[in-house]
Amino acid sequence: MSTRFQKALTQLPPALATAIEPMLRDQFAGHLTAEQIKTLSDQSGLEGTELYLALLPIAATMSNAPISNFYVGAIAHGVSGDAYMGANMELVGEALFHSVHAEQSAISHAWLAGERKLVGITVNYSPCGHCRQFMTELNNNEGLTIRLPEQQPQPLTHYLPYAFGPKDLDIEDGLLDGNDHEMLLDNDDALVQRALREANASHAPYSHTPAAIVLETNKGQVFVGRYAENAAYNPSLPPMQMALNGMARMGISFSEIKRAILVESDKGQVSLVHSSADALGTVSKVELETYKANS
Ligand SMILES: [Zn+2]
Repeated sequence: MSTRFQKALTQLPPALATAIEPMLRDQFAGHLTAEQIKTLSDQSGLEGTELYLALLPIAATMSNAPISNFYVGAIAHGVSGDAYMGANMELVGEALFHSVHAEQSAISHAWLAGERKLVGITVNYSPCGHCRQFMTELNNNEGLTIRLPEQQPQPLTHYLPYAFGPKDLDIEDGLLDGNDHEMLLDNDDALVQRALREANASHAPYSHTPAAIVLETNKGQVFVGRYAENAAYNPSLPPMQMALNGMARMGISFSEIKRAILVESDKGQVSLVHSSADALGTVSKVELETYKANS
């Protein structure tokens, strides 16, 4: 078991701690399959909301919050029955708006894993306004249940009534609907092609700038981030932050980054080159490689 979870295990009901310990191998990424959740439920006697809330200390352990020292953990529940943990991340030396919130982390985790719809989010603190807006972008925003400690589960619409969302801008597709922007890039590099595939799956209906990041570590691990835009623009999640957050969830140091690749549309209304290089520059000396794909 990874030692980083030792403290969190002491905060779990003993039967749940015993049940989950074998799943917390080194570099546990916070993805629990429906089968694993059933095992945890059977062995702990906890079900549904009770079980999800009890698991939050594990998610919060994945937090990387050197500025606030405020550790937020979230769990996104997929329609498949799988669960995806997320945690907040802050970049020292960079503007605060480069931070990633736990709900964004869990949602992007589920998206990158191929989940096509979320049915709930469990989080250890009340979602901030930024996250309520970010969740409104989800394709199932009206079917999303929010679970918090000491509160009855409530739909997202309870936490954000009269929401402004994609439909207000005549956008039909929500986050997680799945995209193929069909961009092309004449380059044989396998990681550049991976970044192109992720960019083609990104959610950029407002700026029409599909984009994605691929990070490779010294050990050959690959982390990706897809651009996730929001109807209100500012809670958009940039792909570099999503990719860095994937590393942070696994407890991998940013000093392990060996290569960083950005692929974005050559016809977009915005560019992520500078903001991606800025965010990368605070955690790594590696130069960002940038490629423009043909839209
Ligand atoms: Zn938030």
